[in-house]
Amino acid sequence: MARYTGPVCRLCRRERTKLFLKGERCYSMKCPVSEAVTDRHSRAYPPGEHGRDRMRQGSEYLAQLREKQKARRIYGVLEKQFRNLYAEANRQPGITGENLLRLLELRLDNVAFRAGWGASRSQARQLVRHGHVRVNGKRVTIPSYRVRVDDIVSLKPASKELFVVRRNLDTLDRQLPLWLVAGEEGRSQVRVATLPEREHIDEPVRESLIVELYSK
Ligand code: SF4
Repeated sequence: MARYTGPVCRLCRRERTKLFLKGERCYSMKCPVSEAVTDRHSRAYPPGEHGRDRMRQGSEYLAQLREKQKARRIYGVLEKQFRNLYAEANRQPGITGENLLRLLELRLDNVAFRAGWGASRSQARQLVRHGHVRVNGKRVTIPSYRVRVDDIVSLKPASKELFVVRRNLDTLDRQLPLWLVAGEEGRSQVRVATLPEREHIDEPVRESLIVELYSK
């Protein structure tokens, strides 16, 4: 399955905000767009030779485009997949932007990330691809697999002892969102208690701009 394999800090710099794509590094002084980094070392401007010039540009269309790109990059979804998700969200009853975010949140790689097994969504995605994650006891290796209410998502018994998983669970101390609850096996198992609502999703995405972009 296709995915972006280039430098990810570049994506944050392009959006001029932290997208938390690299796990531990995102919380350290090594993050090039961290506010804690001194001016001299900060690279909180778009990448490329003319990156600093780009900071002056601004238009309604650009704001909509950047918001869409930001959402895509946060969830690690390529353009075509994202557009398909938008089309599906648009067909559903309710608010299209919120439907879109809900569909993104329900991806299996996102659930593995929210559960704290992966330091970043890309690491969580790798755990899924490598067969460490089960849904209702069955191995699922498709990162875009959509979980449903009452699904039990768990780590394979042997995978609970993986160094990377143990370290992430011990050091990240990530709180479960309200729509996920810990299962009987503790932190290595979560249950989808309800569908995620907008207020449960803490990503800094203005979904109304994405809807405006695709509605043109
Ligand atoms: Fe890189 Fe993470 Fe900082 Fe983004 S938030 S620039 S991925 S270190």
